[in-house]
Amino acid sequence: LKDKYDVIIIGAGGAGMTAALEAKENGMNPVIFEKMAAAGGNTNKSSSGMNASETKFQQEQNIEDSNDLFYKETLKGGKNTNDTDLLRYFVDHSASAIDWLDSKGISLNNLTITGGMSVKRTHRPEDGSAVGQFLVNGLVRNVQEQDIPLFVNADVKEITEKDGKVTGVKVLLNGEEEKTIEASAVIVATGGYGANMELIAEVRPDLKGLVTTNQEGSTGDGIKMIEALGGTTVDMDQIQVHPTVQQEQSYLIGEAVRGEGGILVSSEGKRFTNELDTRDNVTAAINKLPEKSAYIVFDSGVKSRVKAIQQYEEMGFVIQGDSIEALAKEINVPADQLQATLDTWNEAVKNKEDAEFGRTTGMDNDLSTGPFYAIKIAPGIHYTMGGVKINTNTEVLTTDGQPIPGLFAAGEVIGGLHGSNRIGGNSVGDIIVFGYQAGVKAAEYVKAQ
Ligand code: ADP
Repeated sequence: LKDKYDVIIIGAGGAGMTAALEAKENGMNPVIFEKMAAAGGNTNKSSSGMNASETKFQQEQNIEDSNDLFYKETLKGGKNTNDTDLLRYFVDHSASAIDWLDSKGISLNNLTITGGMSVKRTHRPEDGSAVGQFLVNGLVRNVQEQDIPLFVNADVKEITEKDGKVTGVKVLLNGEEEKTIEASAVIVATGGYGANMELIAEVRPDLKGLVTTNQEGSTGDGIKMIEALGGTTVDMDQIQVHPTVQQEQSYLIGEAVRGEGGILVSSEGKRFTNELDTRDNVTAAINKLPEKSAYIVFDSGVKSRVKAIQQYEEMGFVIQGDSIEALAKEINVPADQLQATLDTWNEAVKNKEDAEFGRTTGMDNDLSTGPFYAIKIAPGIHYTMGGVKINTNTEVLTTDGQPIPGLFAAGEVIGGLHGSNRIGGNSVGDIIVFGYQAGVKAAEYVKAQ
Protein backbone atom coordinates (compact mmCIF):
# COMPACT_ATOMS: atom_id res chain seq x y z
CA LEU A 1 0.00 0.00 0.00
CA LYS A 2 1.33 3.37 -1.04
CA ASP A 3 0.61 6.74 0.54
CA LYS A 4 -0.60 8.23 -2.71
CA TYR A 5 -2.43 7.12 -5.86
CA ASP A 6 -3.95 9.01 -8.79
CA VAL A 7 -7.43 7.67 -8.16
CA ILE A 8 -8.96 5.85 -5.18
CA ILE A 9 -11.95 3.63 -5.87
CA ILE A 10 -14.10 2.80 -2.85
CA GLY A 11 -15.87 -0.55 -3.26
CA ALA A 12 -14.99 -3.59 -5.36
CA GLY A 13 -18.37 -4.40 -6.87
CA GLY A 14 -19.12 -4.21 -10.57
CA ALA A 15 -19.03 -0.41 -10.75
CA GLY A 16 -15.79 -0.06 -8.77
CA MET A 17 -13.83 -2.66 -10.69
CA THR A 18 -15.07 -1.32 -14.04
CA ALA A 19 -14.07 2.21 -13.02
CA ALA A 20 -10.63 1.01 -11.90
CA LEU A 21 -9.99 -0.78 -15.19
CA GLU A 22 -10.96 2.27 -17.20
CA ALA A 23 -8.92 4.63 -15.01
CA LYS A 24 -5.92 2.40 -15.58
CA GLU A 25 -6.66 2.26 -19.32
CA ASN A 26 -6.53 6.07 -19.27
CA GLY A 27 -3.07 6.16 -17.77
CA MET A 28 -3.95 6.34 -14.09
CA ASN A 29 -2.44 4.54 -11.15
CA PRO A 30 -5.61 3.47 -9.29
CA VAL A 31 -6.25 1.54 -6.08
CA ILE A 32 -9.44 -0.22 -4.93
CA PHE A 33 -10.51 -0.48 -1.28
CA GLU A 34 -13.13 -3.07 -0.36
CA LYS A 35 -14.43 -3.31 3.18
CA MET A 36 -15.57 -6.93 3.01
CA ALA A 37 -13.25 -9.95 2.92
CA ALA A 38 -13.79 -10.46 -0.81
CA ALA A 39 -14.62 -8.45 -3.91
CA GLY A 40 -18.06 -8.71 -5.50
CA GLY A 41 -20.65 -6.83 -3.45
CA ASN A 42 -24.26 -7.10 -4.50
CA THR A 43 -23.03 -7.50 -8.07
CA ASN A 44 -22.01 -11.02 -7.17
CA LYS A 45 -25.62 -11.81 -6.32
CA SER A 46 -27.21 -10.43 -9.45
CA SER A 47 -29.02 -13.04 -11.44
CA SER A 48 -30.99 -12.00 -14.49
CA GLY A 49 -28.42 -10.35 -16.72
CA MET A 50 -27.53 -7.01 -18.25
CA ASN A 51 -30.05 -5.01 -20.24
CA ALA A 52 -28.73 -3.33 -23.37
CA SER A 53 -30.21 -2.33 -26.71
CA GLU A 54 -28.97 -2.31 -30.30
CA THR A 55 -26.23 -4.79 -29.39
CA LYS A 56 -24.33 -7.05 -31.74
CA PHE A 57 -25.69 -10.10 -29.94
CA GLN A 58 -29.27 -8.96 -30.47
CA GLN A 59 -28.46 -8.34 -34.13
CA GLU A 60 -26.91 -11.78 -34.52
CA GLN A 61 -30.09 -13.29 -33.12
CA ASN A 62 -32.41 -11.11 -35.23
CA ILE A 63 -33.87 -9.39 -32.20
CA GLU A 64 -35.21 -6.01 -33.19
CA ASP A 65 -34.65 -3.38 -30.54
CA SER A 66 -33.84 0.30 -30.26
CA ASN A 67 -32.32 2.62 -27.68
CA ASP A 68 -35.52 4.67 -27.86
CA LEU A 69 -37.69 1.69 -26.98
CA PHE A 70 -35.34 0.74 -24.12
CA TYR A 71 -35.56 4.35 -22.89
CA LYS A 72 -39.33 4.42 -23.15
CA GLU A 73 -39.89 1.12 -21.34
CA THR A 74 -37.45 1.98 -18.55
CA LEU A 75 -39.12 5.35 -18.05
CA LYS A 76 -42.52 3.70 -17.92
CA GLY A 77 -41.22 1.10 -15.44
CA GLY A 78 -39.83 3.93 -13.30
CA LYS A 79 -43.21 5.69 -13.43
CA ASN A 80 -41.79 8.64 -15.32
CA THR A 81 -39.69 9.69 -12.35
CA ASN A 82 -36.28 8.69 -13.74
CA ASP A 83 -33.52 11.26 -14.20
CA THR A 84 -33.93 11.53 -17.97
CA ASP A 85 -30.38 12.77 -18.66
CA LEU A 86 -28.90 9.75 -16.89
CA LEU A 87 -31.41 7.43 -18.54
CA ARG A 88 -30.68 8.75 -22.04
CA TYR A 89 -26.94 8.38 -21.46
CA PHE A 90 -27.48 4.89 -20.07
CA VAL A 91 -29.45 3.45 -23.00
CA ASP A 92 -27.25 5.14 -25.61
CA HIS A 93 -24.11 3.58 -24.08
CA SER A 94 -25.54 0.18 -23.25
CA ALA A 95 -24.40 -1.55 -26.44
CA SER A 96 -20.85 -0.24 -26.14
CA ALA A 97 -20.79 -1.52 -22.55
CA ILE A 98 -21.66 -5.00 -23.84
CA ASP A 99 -18.81 -4.70 -26.37
CA TRP A 100 -16.41 -3.48 -23.68
CA LEU A 101 -17.18 -6.51 -21.51
CA ASP A 102 -16.80 -8.78 -24.53
CA SER A 103 -13.36 -7.30 -25.20
CA LYS A 104 -12.42 -8.23 -21.62
CA GLY A 105 -13.44 -11.86 -22.18
CA ILE A 106 -16.75 -11.35 -20.39
CA SER A 107 -19.19 -12.29 -23.10
CA LEU A 108 -22.92 -11.95 -22.43
CA ASN A 109 -24.40 -13.40 -25.59
CA ASN A 110 -27.41 -15.36 -24.33
CA LEU A 111 -30.57 -13.27 -24.39
CA THR A 112 -33.62 -13.38 -22.16
CA ILE A 113 -36.27 -10.97 -20.92
CA THR A 114 -37.27 -9.40 -17.59
CA GLY A 115 -40.45 -7.81 -16.23
CA GLY A 116 -41.54 -4.60 -17.94
CA MET A 117 -39.47 -5.15 -21.10
CA SER A 118 -41.07 -6.07 -24.43
CA VAL A 119 -38.04 -7.57 -26.20
CA LYS A 120 -35.13 -9.82 -25.32
CA ARG A 121 -32.47 -7.39 -24.18
CA THR A 122 -31.27 -9.07 -21.00
CA HIS A 123 -27.76 -10.33 -21.81
CA ARG A 124 -26.40 -13.23 -19.78
CA PRO A 125 -23.56 -15.75 -20.02
CA GLU A 126 -23.67 -18.21 -22.88
CA ASP A 127 -24.76 -21.15 -20.69
CA GLY A 128 -27.68 -19.21 -19.20
CA SER A 129 -26.08 -19.02 -15.74
CA ALA A 130 -26.50 -16.12 -13.33
CA VAL A 131 -24.68 -13.01 -14.48
CA GLY A 132 -23.25 -11.88 -11.13
CA GLN A 133 -20.56 -14.41 -10.36
CA PHE A 134 -19.54 -14.62 -14.00
CA LEU A 135 -19.17 -10.85 -14.16
CA VAL A 136 -17.32 -10.54 -10.84
CA ASN A 137 -14.91 -13.36 -11.74
CA GLY A 138 -14.23 -11.76 -15.11
CA LEU A 139 -13.66 -8.30 -13.63
CA VAL A 140 -11.40 -9.62 -10.85
CA ARG A 141 -9.37 -11.49 -13.47
CA ASN A 142 -8.94 -8.28 -15.49
CA VAL A 143 -8.07 -6.24 -12.39
CA GLN A 144 -5.36 -8.78 -11.57
CA GLU A 145 -4.05 -8.86 -15.14
CA GLN A 146 -3.79 -5.08 -15.08
CA ASP A 147 -1.92 -5.19 -11.75
CA ILE A 148 -4.45 -2.91 -10.09
CA PRO A 149 -4.01 -3.16 -6.32
CA LEU A 150 -7.24 -4.29 -4.62
CA PHE A 151 -7.25 -4.32 -0.82
CA VAL A 152 -9.97 -6.26 0.99
CA ASN A 153 -10.90 -5.68 4.66
CA ALA A 154 -10.21 -2.06 3.80
CA ASP A 155 -13.10 -0.03 5.18
CA VAL A 156 -13.12 3.57 4.00
CA LYS A 157 -14.37 5.82 6.80
CA GLU A 158 -14.04 9.26 5.35
CA ILE A 159 -13.27 11.13 2.15
CA THR A 160 -10.87 13.95 2.86
CA GLU A 161 -10.88 17.38 1.22
CA LYS A 162 -9.05 20.67 1.25
CA ASP A 163 -10.45 23.97 -0.02
CA GLY A 164 -13.42 22.12 -1.50
CA LYS A 165 -11.29 19.65 -3.47
CA VAL A 166 -11.07 15.95 -2.72
CA THR A 167 -7.64 14.93 -1.40
CA GLY A 168 -8.01 11.22 -0.57
CA VAL A 169 -9.54 8.92 2.04
CA LYS A 170 -9.14 7.60 5.55
CA VAL A 171 -9.25 3.82 5.47
CA LEU A 172 -9.35 1.28 8.30
CA LEU A 173 -7.23 -1.74 7.38
CA ASN A 174 -8.11 -5.15 8.82
CA GLY A 175 -10.09 -3.49 11.58
CA GLU A 176 -6.87 -2.28 13.16
CA GLU A 177 -4.96 0.46 11.55
CA GLU A 178 -6.38 3.69 10.11
CA LYS A 179 -4.41 5.28 7.31
CA THR A 180 -4.81 8.43 5.28
CA ILE A 181 -4.18 7.80 1.60
CA GLU A 182 -3.90 10.67 -0.86
CA ALA A 183 -5.41 10.92 -4.33
CA SER A 184 -6.57 13.72 -6.62
CA ALA A 185 -9.80 11.90 -7.39
CA VAL A 186 -12.06 9.49 -5.50
CA ILE A 187 -14.66 7.28 -7.15
CA VAL A 188 -17.37 6.16 -4.75
CA ALA A 189 -18.72 2.74 -5.75
CA THR A 190 -19.93 1.54 -2.38
CA GLY A 191 -23.29 0.16 -3.54
CA GLY A 192 -26.70 0.73 -1.97
CA TYR A 193 -28.18 0.61 1.51
CA GLY A 194 -30.40 -2.46 1.19
CA ALA A 195 -28.71 -4.12 4.18
CA ASN A 196 -29.00 -1.05 6.41
CA MET A 197 -32.24 -1.88 8.20
CA GLU A 198 -32.03 1.16 10.42
CA LEU A 199 -31.85 3.55 7.49
CA ILE A 200 -34.59 1.68 5.65
CA ALA A 201 -36.87 1.80 8.69
CA GLU A 202 -36.22 5.54 8.84
CA VAL A 203 -37.04 6.31 5.21
CA ARG A 204 -39.66 3.56 4.79
CA PRO A 205 -41.25 2.45 8.06
CA ASP A 206 -43.71 0.29 6.11
CA LEU A 207 -40.89 -2.05 5.04
CA LYS A 208 -39.88 -3.01 8.58
CA GLY A 209 -39.58 -6.76 9.07
CA LEU A 210 -38.98 -7.76 5.46
CA VAL A 211 -36.03 -9.98 4.63
CA THR A 212 -33.26 -8.52 2.46
CA THR A 213 -31.39 -10.13 -0.42
CA ASN A 214 -28.50 -7.68 0.02
CA GLN A 215 -24.96 -8.59 0.99
CA GLU A 216 -24.07 -7.23 4.42
CA GLY A 217 -21.69 -4.56 3.11
CA SER A 218 -24.54 -2.64 1.46
CA THR A 219 -24.99 -0.16 4.27
CA GLY A 220 -24.95 3.14 2.42
CA ASP A 221 -21.51 4.26 3.67
CA GLY A 222 -20.75 6.13 0.46
CA ILE A 223 -23.92 8.17 0.76
CA LYS A 224 -23.03 9.30 4.28
CA MET A 225 -19.45 10.15 3.27
CA ILE A 226 -20.65 12.13 0.27
CA GLU A 227 -23.26 13.99 2.29
CA ALA A 228 -20.49 15.00 4.70
CA LEU A 229 -18.82 16.76 1.76
CA GLY A 230 -21.98 18.61 0.75
CA GLY A 231 -23.22 16.14 -1.87
CA THR A 232 -26.95 15.77 -2.23
CA THR A 233 -29.23 12.74 -2.57
CA VAL A 234 -32.36 11.87 -4.54
CA ASP A 235 -35.18 9.32 -4.10
CA MET A 236 -33.90 7.94 -0.79
CA ASP A 237 -37.33 6.48 0.02
CA GLN A 238 -37.46 4.54 -3.26
CA ILE A 239 -36.65 1.00 -2.25
CA GLN A 240 -37.32 -1.95 -4.47
CA VAL A 241 -39.00 -4.94 -3.00
CA HIS A 242 -38.40 -7.96 -5.21
CA PRO A 243 -41.41 -10.23 -5.63
CA THR A 244 -39.63 -13.59 -5.71
CA VAL A 245 -37.37 -14.19 -2.72
CA GLN A 246 -36.87 -17.54 -0.98
CA GLN A 247 -37.56 -16.44 2.58
CA GLU A 248 -35.60 -18.84 4.79
CA GLN A 249 -32.30 -17.94 3.15
CA SER A 250 -33.30 -14.47 1.84
CA TYR A 251 -32.28 -15.68 -1.59
CA LEU A 252 -33.48 -14.07 -4.75
CA ILE A 253 -35.07 -16.31 -7.35
CA GLY A 254 -34.12 -14.67 -10.63
CA GLU A 255 -36.61 -13.25 -13.07
CA ALA A 256 -35.27 -15.56 -15.77
CA VAL A 257 -37.34 -18.41 -14.29
CA ARG A 258 -40.44 -16.45 -15.27
CA GLY A 259 -38.77 -14.95 -18.35
CA GLU A 260 -38.19 -18.45 -19.66
CA GLY A 261 -41.78 -19.51 -19.04
CA GLY A 262 -42.46 -19.98 -15.31
CA ILE A 263 -45.76 -18.88 -13.78
CA LEU A 264 -46.84 -17.86 -10.28
CA VAL A 265 -49.60 -19.73 -8.49
CA SER A 266 -51.38 -19.08 -5.20
CA SER A 267 -52.17 -21.60 -2.49
CA GLU A 268 -55.39 -22.23 -4.40
CA GLY A 269 -53.34 -23.39 -7.37
CA LYS A 270 -54.38 -20.40 -9.47
CA ARG A 271 -52.45 -17.75 -11.36
CA PHE A 272 -53.15 -14.28 -10.02
CA THR A 273 -51.08 -11.78 -12.04
CA ASN A 274 -49.05 -11.14 -15.16
CA GLU A 275 -45.84 -12.67 -13.82
CA LEU A 276 -43.71 -10.41 -16.00
CA ASP A 277 -45.29 -7.16 -14.99
CA THR A 278 -42.86 -4.77 -13.24
CA ARG A 279 -41.47 -5.81 -9.85
CA ASP A 280 -43.62 -3.40 -7.87
CA ASN A 281 -46.82 -4.64 -9.50
CA VAL A 282 -45.98 -8.33 -9.06
CA THR A 283 -45.07 -7.62 -5.42
CA ALA A 284 -48.40 -5.86 -4.88
CA ALA A 285 -50.25 -8.83 -6.39
CA ILE A 286 -48.52 -11.29 -4.04
CA ASN A 287 -49.22 -9.07 -1.04
CA LYS A 288 -52.91 -9.10 -1.93
CA LEU A 289 -53.06 -12.89 -1.50
CA PRO A 290 -54.16 -13.87 2.02
CA GLU A 291 -50.98 -15.96 2.44
CA LYS A 292 -48.74 -13.16 1.04
CA SER A 293 -46.57 -15.78 -0.67
CA ALA A 294 -46.76 -17.87 -3.84
CA TYR A 295 -45.12 -20.65 -5.82
CA ILE A 296 -43.16 -20.21 -9.02
CA VAL A 297 -44.16 -23.24 -11.06
CA PHE A 298 -42.16 -24.43 -14.05
CA ASP A 299 -41.29 -27.52 -16.07
CA SER A 300 -38.13 -29.31 -17.20
CA GLY A 301 -37.89 -27.08 -20.25
CA VAL A 302 -37.53 -23.96 -18.10
CA LYS A 303 -35.08 -25.82 -15.90
CA SER A 304 -32.86 -26.63 -18.86
CA ARG A 305 -32.89 -23.01 -20.04
CA VAL A 306 -32.12 -21.39 -16.68
CA LYS A 307 -28.88 -22.67 -15.27
CA ALA A 308 -29.38 -20.92 -11.92
CA ILE A 309 -32.14 -23.41 -11.14
CA GLN A 310 -29.48 -26.07 -10.53
CA GLN A 311 -28.10 -23.83 -7.83
CA TYR A 312 -31.58 -23.32 -6.35
CA GLU A 313 -31.87 -27.10 -6.29
CA GLU A 314 -28.56 -27.51 -4.50
CA MET A 315 -29.75 -24.98 -1.95
CA GLY A 316 -32.84 -27.08 -1.34
CA PHE A 317 -35.42 -24.60 -2.69
CA VAL A 318 -36.86 -26.69 -5.50
CA ILE A 319 -39.83 -28.98 -4.97
CA GLN A 320 -40.31 -31.66 -7.62
CA GLY A 321 -43.23 -33.74 -8.86
CA ASP A 322 -43.09 -36.25 -11.69
CA SER A 323 -46.57 -35.18 -12.73
CA ILE A 324 -48.61 -32.04 -12.12
CA GLU A 325 -50.72 -34.02 -9.68
CA ALA A 326 -47.64 -35.16 -7.77
CA LEU A 327 -46.32 -31.59 -7.61
CA ALA A 328 -49.71 -30.33 -6.41
CA LYS A 329 -49.54 -32.84 -3.58
CA GLU A 330 -46.03 -31.77 -2.64
CA ILE A 331 -46.96 -28.09 -2.39
CA ASN A 332 -50.39 -28.74 -0.95
CA VAL A 333 -52.55 -27.08 -3.60
CA PRO A 334 -55.67 -28.67 -5.18
CA ALA A 335 -54.43 -30.97 -7.97
CA ASP A 336 -57.34 -30.44 -10.38
CA GLN A 337 -56.99 -26.70 -10.01
CA LEU A 338 -53.25 -26.77 -10.71
CA GLN A 339 -53.89 -29.00 -13.72
CA ALA A 340 -56.57 -26.60 -14.97
CA THR A 341 -54.24 -23.62 -14.41
CA LEU A 342 -51.49 -25.24 -16.47
CA ASP A 343 -53.93 -26.32 -19.21
CA THR A 344 -55.26 -22.78 -19.53
CA TRP A 345 -51.74 -21.37 -19.48
CA ASN A 346 -50.50 -23.77 -22.15
CA GLU A 347 -53.45 -22.77 -24.36
CA ALA A 348 -52.55 -19.11 -23.78
CA VAL A 349 -48.95 -19.82 -24.82
CA LYS A 350 -50.14 -21.65 -27.94
CA ASN A 351 -52.45 -18.80 -28.96
CA LYS A 352 -50.02 -16.11 -27.76
CA GLU A 353 -52.88 -14.60 -25.82
CA ASP A 354 -53.19 -14.52 -22.04
CA ALA A 355 -56.84 -13.59 -21.68
CA GLU A 356 -56.67 -13.73 -17.88
CA PHE A 357 -53.77 -11.41 -17.07
CA GLY A 358 -52.50 -9.99 -20.36
CA ARG A 359 -49.00 -11.41 -20.16
CA THR A 360 -47.22 -11.06 -23.50
CA THR A 361 -43.62 -12.11 -22.78
CA GLY A 362 -41.85 -15.27 -21.63
CA MET A 363 -44.31 -17.26 -23.72
CA ASP A 364 -41.99 -18.96 -26.21
CA ASN A 365 -42.49 -22.36 -24.59
CA ASP A 366 -45.36 -23.94 -22.69
CA LEU A 367 -45.14 -25.86 -19.42
CA SER A 368 -45.69 -29.44 -20.53
CA THR A 369 -42.49 -31.40 -20.02
CA GLY A 370 -42.29 -33.27 -16.73
CA PRO A 371 -41.02 -33.45 -14.13
CA PHE A 372 -42.63 -30.28 -12.82
CA TYR A 373 -41.18 -27.98 -10.19
CA ALA A 374 -42.10 -25.28 -7.70
CA ILE A 375 -40.23 -22.79 -5.52
CA LYS A 376 -41.99 -21.01 -2.66
CA ILE A 377 -41.39 -17.25 -2.68
CA ALA A 378 -42.49 -13.99 -1.09
CA PRO A 379 -41.32 -10.39 -1.47
CA GLY A 380 -38.05 -9.11 0.06
CA ILE A 381 -35.96 -5.92 0.04
CA HIS A 382 -33.73 -6.03 -2.97
CA TYR A 383 -32.44 -2.74 -4.28
CA THR A 384 -32.23 0.90 -3.31
CA MET A 385 -33.10 3.21 -6.19
CA GLY A 386 -32.18 6.30 -4.21
CA GLY A 387 -28.69 7.61 -3.68
CA VAL A 388 -26.34 10.46 -4.41
CA LYS A 389 -27.01 12.82 -7.27
CA ILE A 390 -24.59 12.75 -10.20
CA ASN A 391 -24.56 14.15 -13.73
CA THR A 392 -23.75 12.14 -16.85
CA ASN A 393 -20.04 12.75 -16.20
CA THR A 394 -20.55 10.84 -12.90
CA GLU A 395 -19.56 14.00 -11.02
CA VAL A 396 -21.15 14.17 -7.57
CA LEU A 397 -23.38 17.22 -7.23
CA THR A 398 -24.12 19.55 -4.34
CA THR A 399 -27.64 20.75 -3.47
CA ASP A 400 -27.21 23.67 -5.85
CA GLY A 401 -26.13 21.38 -8.69
CA GLN A 402 -22.38 22.09 -8.61
CA PRO A 403 -19.87 19.24 -9.04
CA ILE A 404 -17.61 18.58 -6.05
CA PRO A 405 -14.09 18.71 -7.56
CA GLY A 406 -12.46 15.29 -7.68
CA LEU A 407 -15.50 13.36 -6.46
CA PHE A 408 -17.17 10.81 -8.73
CA ALA A 409 -19.76 8.09 -8.07
CA ALA A 410 -21.24 5.15 -9.94
CA GLY A 411 -23.36 2.07 -9.33
CA GLU A 412 -26.08 1.46 -6.77
CA VAL A 413 -24.75 4.34 -4.63
CA ILE A 414 -26.23 6.82 -7.10
CA GLY A 415 -29.90 7.75 -7.34
CA GLY A 416 -32.23 8.86 -10.07
CA LEU A 417 -31.51 6.56 -12.99
CA HIS A 418 -34.16 4.01 -12.13
CA GLY A 419 -36.84 6.37 -10.86
CA SER A 420 -39.27 4.74 -8.47
CA ASN A 421 -38.94 1.20 -9.82
CA ARG A 422 -35.87 -0.45 -11.28
CA ILE A 423 -36.31 -2.83 -14.18
CA GLY A 424 -34.60 -6.23 -13.74
CA GLY A 425 -31.31 -6.31 -15.66
CA ASN A 426 -30.87 -2.53 -15.56
CA SER A 427 -28.53 -2.39 -12.57
CA VAL A 428 -25.86 -4.49 -14.25
CA GLY A 429 -26.09 -2.16 -17.24
CA ASP A 430 -25.90 0.78 -14.87
CA ILE A 431 -22.69 -0.34 -13.13
CA ILE A 432 -20.85 -1.02 -16.38
CA VAL A 433 -21.99 2.10 -18.26
CA PHE A 434 -21.40 4.53 -15.38
CA GLY A 435 -18.46 2.63 -13.85
CA TYR A 436 -16.70 3.02 -17.20
CA GLN A 437 -17.63 6.69 -17.40
CA ALA A 438 -16.37 7.32 -13.84
CA GLY A 439 -12.98 5.80 -14.73
CA VAL A 440 -12.69 7.97 -17.84
CA LYS A 441 -13.87 11.19 -16.18
CA ALA A 442 -11.77 10.76 -13.05
CA ALA A 443 -8.70 10.26 -15.27
CA GLU A 444 -9.53 13.38 -17.27
CA TYR A 445 -9.92 15.35 -14.05
CA VAL A 446 -6.63 14.13 -12.60
CA LYS A 447 -4.75 14.97 -15.81
CA ALA A 448 -6.17 18.49 -15.74
CA GLN A 449 -4.85 19.12 -12.20
P1 ADP B 1 -22.09 -1.50 -7.31
O1 ADP B 1 -21.46 -2.45 -8.25
O2 ADP B 1 -23.40 -1.00 -7.76
O3 ADP B 1 -21.17 -0.40 -6.93
P2 ADP B 1 -21.90 -3.55 -5.20
O4 ADP B 1 -22.79 -3.79 -4.05
O5 ADP B 1 -21.71 -4.67 -6.17
O6 ADP B 1 -22.46 -2.25 -5.94
O7 ADP B 1 -20.45 -3.13 -4.71
C1 ADP B 1 -20.22 -2.19 -3.70
C2 ADP B 1 -19.04 -2.66 -2.87
O8 ADP B 1 -18.60 -1.61 -2.03
C3 ADP B 1 -19.38 -3.82 -1.95
O9 ADP B 1 -18.48 -4.87 -2.17
C4 ADP B 1 -19.26 -3.22 -0.56
O10 ADP B 1 -18.85 -4.16 0.42
C5 ADP B 1 -18.22 -2.14 -0.78
N1 ADP B 1 -18.23 -1.07 0.26
C6 ADP B 1 -19.32 -0.50 0.83
N2 ADP B 1 -18.96 0.43 1.74
C7 ADP B 1 -17.59 0.46 1.73
C8 ADP B 1 -16.61 1.20 2.46
N3 ADP B 1 -16.96 2.10 3.38
N4 ADP B 1 -15.30 0.97 2.19
C9 ADP B 1 -14.93 0.05 1.27
N5 ADP B 1 -15.80 -0.69 0.58
C10 ADP B 1 -17.13 -0.49 0.78
